[in-house]
Amino acid sequence: MTFSKYQQYLLKFIGAVEKWQQSFPEFVEDETLLPDPLKFEQISKEFLKRLEDNYPFHHPLYAGQMLKPPHPVAMLGYIAAMMINPNNHALDGGPATAQMEKEVVSLFAEKFGFEKHLGHLTSSGTIANLEALWVSREIYPGKFIIFSDEAHYTHERVCRLIKANYERVKSTSCGKIDLIDLKEKLDKIDVGTVIVTLGTTALGALDPLDEIFELQKKYNFRVHVDTAYGGYYKVISSSEKNLQLFDLISKADSLAFDPHKLGLQPYGCGCIIFKDNDVGRYYKHDSPYTYFTSDDLHLGEISFECSRPGAAAAALWLTTKCFELEADFGMGPILKKQRRAALRLVDLINKSKTYRLYMLPELDIVTYFPVGSSTIEISAKSDEIFSACMGRKETPLFLARLTVKTEKFQQLFPDVQINSKEITILRSCMLKPEHFDWADNIMKVLEEVV
Ligand SMILES: *Cc1c(COP(=O)(O)O)cnc(C)c1O
Repeated sequence: MTFSKYQQYLLKFIGAVEKWQQSFPEFVEDETLLPDPLKFEQISKEFLKRLEDNYPFHHPLYAGQMLKPPHPVAMLGYIAAMMINPNNHALDGGPATAQMEKEVVSLFAEKFGFEKHLGHLTSSGTIANLEALWVSREIYPGKFIIFSDEAHYTHERVCRLIKANYERVKSTSCGKIDLIDLKEKLDKIDVGTVIVTLGTTALGALDPLDEIFELQKKYNFRVHVDTAYGGYYKVISSSEKNLQLFDLISKADSLAFDPHKLGLQPYGCGCIIFKDNDVGRYYKHDSPYTYFTSDDLHLGEISFECSRPGAAAAALWLTTKCFELEADFGMGPILKKQRRAALRLVDLINKSKTYRLYMLPELDIVTYFPVGSSTIEISAKSDEIFSACMGRKETPLFLARLTVKTEKFQQLFPDVQINSKEITILRSCMLKPEHFDWADNIMKVLEEVV
């Protein structure tokens, strides 16, 4: 989506904010704030040139990591609010955007099925998870926090940071938490919290949340769902059987998700939601200077971070009002098309004689590798293809690589000789709806480079 199509809105948004700013008594901007025009001219040129040193995240031929630009609607919301620069730490820091944050978080809490909730935006999934685990540790001091070895690496770091006991649970060859090992851990150690990933970062695998809730009945642990990447799939959970796991999130104690991943937002937008609004007491502090204009609950009283961009809330509010969290319009069709794009590429890989599918994606991450007789050979070929695709002049293709333990790989591909501990395969996050129309082109490039 090209931002230039939104030029008239850009002027409108900027103009409206300036008009509001100019409704206050006029003042002269201090001359110290004026840049040297020549210097600015020069440095701008250099700056814009340097930005070209990037991968084309906006283009369907970028089929690598979980990266894409925000939607122009989000950009407009962000830019307009950024001109004012509200700080959502306190209602005083930006009443409008603090209100938008509360509203938009409520929309998500409702969508996920929470009857009541306590939640707020964060600067990332990392911070959202940090808050969830910190609250878990406060509630169950000394008890273990456990998560699978396919869970995001942030969990181990967070546990070390908050000095919580933690343990890793094995995962299956499909990247899901291993229920047998989970049960063993639950029998052996005192577990306070199980982290369930719906949409692992590497493979997009969904941990069996339903079966984990069954175990919860016996072992009585907290459930934190990390759906930083996958969370938006809740919007279309009715469209596929597998996605119905997202409907169980309402029974979890806490949930982390990232609007800056699938939610068309610029970076700096994660979200944490707790089912029990009583956990607010763990955030309590008594700063004497922060809150002064209202008795309402300030966002800073229920969040770990202090200053946070009101612009992030503005962008998410505007986007979510424009693209509602509905299966048949708004966000739904976007997500459905991403899912179809992933399945289209799967189809093409399955028909190919030069590539093999690593795993059927549960969301929109496709993993595959070039045909080869041994793990060393496949790794070398993957590396070559990765570089060759990127190096093409006319239609460069940008992929990601994924390292997989060969003990897992072996279970899925017993015909391949194992002669290394790890194997490099290829990974494409098909998270732009345009990827659907481009899947054939992507496959064509993949075939041409071998
Ligand atoms: C991306 C991701 C995170 C980390 O989120 P950031 O926004 O990058 O800090 C955590 N968990 C999962 C499952 C993720 O995909």
